[in-house]
Amino acid sequence: MNQNMGAVLASPMVFFTKSLVRSSLPSIHSINNPQEKSLNISHTRLHSVLENKPSQFSCKEGKEEISSTDGQVIRCKAAVAWEAGKPLVIEEVEVAPPQKMEVRLKILFTSLCRTDVYFWEAKGQNTMFPRILGHEAGGIVESVGEGVTELAPGDHVLPVFTGECRECAHCKSEESNMCNLLRINTNRGVMIHDGKSRFSINGKPIFHFVGTSTFSEYTVVHVGCVAKINPLAPLDKVCILSCGISTGFGATVNVAKPRKGSTVAVFGLGAVGLAAAEGARVSGASRIIGVDMNPNKLQRAKQFGVTEFVNPKDYNKPVQEVLAEMTDGGVDRSIECTGHIDAMISAFECVHDGWGVAVLVGVPSKDAVFKTHPVNFLNERTLKGTFFGNYKPRSDIPAVVEKYMNKELELEKFITHQVPFSEINKAFDYMLNGESIRCIIRMEH
Ligand code: NAD
Ligand code: ZN
Repeated sequence: MNQNMGAVLASPMVFFTKSLVRSSLPSIHSINNPQEKSLNISHTRLHSVLENKPSQFSCKEGKEEISSTDGQVIRCKAAVAWEAGKPLVIEEVEVAPPQKMEVRLKILFTSLCRTDVYFWEAKGQNTMFPRILGHEAGGIVESVGEGVTELAPGDHVLPVFTGECRECAHCKSEESNMCNLLRINTNRGVMIHDGKSRFSINGKPIFHFVGTSTFSEYTVVHVGCVAKINPLAPLDKVCILSCGISTGFGATVNVAKPRKGSTVAVFGLGAVGLAAAEGARVSGASRIIGVDMNPNKLQRAKQFGVTEFVNPKDYNKPVQEVLAEMTDGGVDRSIECTGHIDAMISAFECVHDGWGVAVLVGVPSKDAVFKTHPVNFLNERTLKGTFFGNYKPRSDIPAVVEKYMNKELELEKFITHQVPFSEINKAFDYMLNGESIRCIIRMEH
């Protein structure tokens, strides 16, 4: 175990009386509390705690508690994937303090994305167990490691599976969000700083997932993978901007960039595809053709501006031919949000020659090979791909949250289910049955 972890605190709370906390903030430094020094509570920090986070307080025998776990190992609950495809198990884990350029987050809400399911099923993916999955979440900074200056305890944040170091050529480029240091890496399972995990059970390390591992009450994340957002934004809604919705919406508005009046096909009408359709609607597309194998997706898709629906199973010819016939030669833009290689190829081949652009978003199985005739490119079709809708997480996501706050972007319609953390496996069932768009998992601190 890491020597810097410090002592494990099972119940790391400081008690202040209500009246003291409420009425005498300026004199907080004078509290004669023997633990004060080691707990290192600054006035600013306490103030931010008081202003922003009523959820960090709980009343117990007439006293209010302030969590101060800075520099300590935290024991908390996490949902551990021990084996591929087996239900997650809620375990007590130890979460080490954040090291250089890391922050430890208290997760309040997380949700399930298809990418978690792929790496849990581990059918077409490399994966590692035991692991704490989860990458779509909202939370509050609990403590920060050495060198972190732009985040402080109490900040409201969204962790993101791909990061932004702000120093590499990608971060300096306006075109790329593929940070050299922090781009998505599904095979790592440990922190970049020292190649170790911050999670353990009785000293046995548990692997991280895409640098976020949000299926835990507390997690440690690189500072470059954290977007600081408006503290007034409801975390139980905006948490879905930390992956799926920003990914789909950004794939359309930042990458496919349909012109007003154009025709857009969206392959896969899960959360990511519906967010891509929302992007097409906002961009003024006149036709939005949803393509999905599951006929139940049609009704819901209409709420997201999908104007026509095609189920490839209803035809005995390739769906790209069906789309070309429907649109006089092909769609102007297509966005693939399924992760299936056949859909990726169809999404490319269904765009109009001369100007059509296809954007791949789905995460393919590790053995997938994209095959198409080169003449499809010669005929002036463009194929692109994107992670996280081309958004730079730290620089761009706060503004996407503001779009929700200004009612330019609706999030409620994506949230179809909610479960408490103890029932996290139900979220997997809802997704596997095709019932849910997004299921919010409420942490039970
Ligand atoms: P989801 O499972 O909720 O939705 C996928 C949809 O695709 C389902 O409705 C399914 O019926 C449909 N589908 C499957 N195969 C199809 C086919 N051959 N043709 C047409 N439709 C088909 O998943 P989601 O959470 O919306 O995620 C979608 C994809 O995006 C996944 O592959 C996920 O891993 C990926 N993803 C990528 C990024 C990124 O940054 N690139 C980020 C998040 C998610
Ligand atoms: Zn995701």
